[in-house]
Amino acid sequence: MTTALFINGEFIAPVQGKAIDVINPATEQVFAQIAAATAEDVDNAVQAARGAFDNGPWVRMTAAERGAVLRNIAQLIRERLEMIATLEVQDNGKPLPEARWDVGDAAFCFDYYADLAEDMAAHSEETIDVGDDRFRCKVVQDPVGVVGAIVPWNYPLLMAVWKVAPALAAGCSIVLKPSELCSLSCVELAKIIQHAGVPAGVFNLITGYGAEAGAPLAEHPLVDKLAFTGSVATGSRIMQAAAKDIRTVSLELGGKSPFIVFDDADIEKAVEWIMFGIFWNQGQVCSATSRVLVQENRYPALLERLCAEAQKITIGNGMQSGILLGPLVSEGQYQKVLGFINQAREQGIQPASGGKRPAHLTTGYFLQPTIFADVPLDSAVWKEEIFGPVVCVNPFATEADAIRLANASEFGLAAAVMSHDLERCDRVAKALRAGIVWVNCSQPTFSQAPWGGYKKSGIGRELGRWGLNNYFETKQITAYASDEPWGWYIQ
Ligand code: NAD
Repeated sequence: MTTALFINGEFIAPVQGKAIDVINPATEQVFAQIAAATAEDVDNAVQAARGAFDNGPWVRMTAAERGAVLRNIAQLIRERLEMIATLEVQDNGKPLPEARWDVGDAAFCFDYYADLAEDMAAHSEETIDVGDDRFRCKVVQDPVGVVGAIVPWNYPLLMAVWKVAPALAAGCSIVLKPSELCSLSCVELAKIIQHAGVPAGVFNLITGYGAEAGAPLAEHPLVDKLAFTGSVATGSRIMQAAAKDIRTVSLELGGKSPFIVFDDADIEKAVEWIMFGIFWNQGQVCSATSRVLVQENRYPALLERLCAEAQKITIGNGMQSGILLGPLVSEGQYQKVLGFINQAREQGIQPASGGKRPAHLTTGYFLQPTIFADVPLDSAVWKEEIFGPVVCVNPFATEADAIRLANASEFGLAAAVMSHDLERCDRVAKALRAGIVWVNCSQPTFSQAPWGGYKKSGIGRELGRWGLNNYFETKQITAYASDEPWGWYIQ
């Protein structure tokens, strides 16, 4: 199977006819190919999106009309949920139950933005009192135009949908560029969008490498807004591309999120949330709670239980039932994560648990859940985003210490705090410099609530009404409503 690009309502081969092998990370076998777009294809897609926005019906439809189409998309995703989830497992490696969650969430996200856009349209004209009776001033929301959306491989469909659903709801046109490692579910999304009633040119899909397809999209002068999720390094390049023509940009980047456990917390519950926070999706989660801080009198007990529970995690092909940890997405990612572990070993930091390929799995990019304890604060494993099933655990003495250690990071995406004392949780949550703080849990994510980070974790917020506002320009319309001459000529 070789997939095609989706441009102006049609599936077409890329101009240069190139393709990229798609490898199942559990088997290391090539099982498909995706089209490898280059600058010419990107230009064709952007021109289609531009034409659809400037002259097409989508932007002129009411929010209710667009909402009906978004609900069709949600319904079609649900009808194909099992097939898309299976593709996601083969492409990305995640366990099937997690892939089903992702695809279900993607469908929900379309329904949610259909409702929200209708609701916002009903209250869209805000009247502003400018303090002068001669003027009538109102504020309206205008779709931002052509959106260039570039997304990563860790939640291949869901990260795309977090952009596509609100952008479509707002009336924008889109060119979507998924990761070259995991594009297949986005190809399925294009097929669904083709059948759901979205006019030609409104949604376009470009698959290919970052340098050959992503960069020309980021630099294209006819793109009005860039919406990016991925690494800090690429995010910085996207921002530089946007700076050249002063285009708006939203960035969802990496993290190194802390999880603070106070001594009154239930250790059993803490261990379960810590494991979910770092090992689901193989730890390839931007908000993974990868730095655990435990109050010192409970530190030995928690560490012992965490290591014991981590060793029970079932590792294997995500298509098999009962598997909790699949392979990492690619050989490159596997080597990168192993590189962090080996570098730590060379510095005398030995894993308290894991740190190797599981002995029973000789094929596939599998790695044991790995725990480092008593980790130097200046080590790479403590400071840098590893993006794998690797967690560092350190003790802390006081609440103030916990906050200081948690905030001592260049990232600020997420954080978690655990204690029976809810006032303390609230106090700590407010002191943490992160866009998302979980209390007595880690990772639950809702389409209704804002998602995004402080510091190097990004700019702007996705999801909720914040996510929809990403795709609007704000316009004031001010009318002179007096019969009196303005009087500029009158001395
Ligand atoms: P990446 O930056 O390597 O790639 C992301 C996307 O950018 C891919 O589609 C890639 O092809 C494209 N790209 C690469 N170079 C480009 C260039 N020069 N110009 C334009 N596009 C280019 O990231 P990744 O490895 O795919 O994803 C992992 C990263 O994503 C992690 O850092 C993770 O934290 C982050 N992430 C963040 C969030 C969030 O919500 N904050 C969510 C998921 C993932």
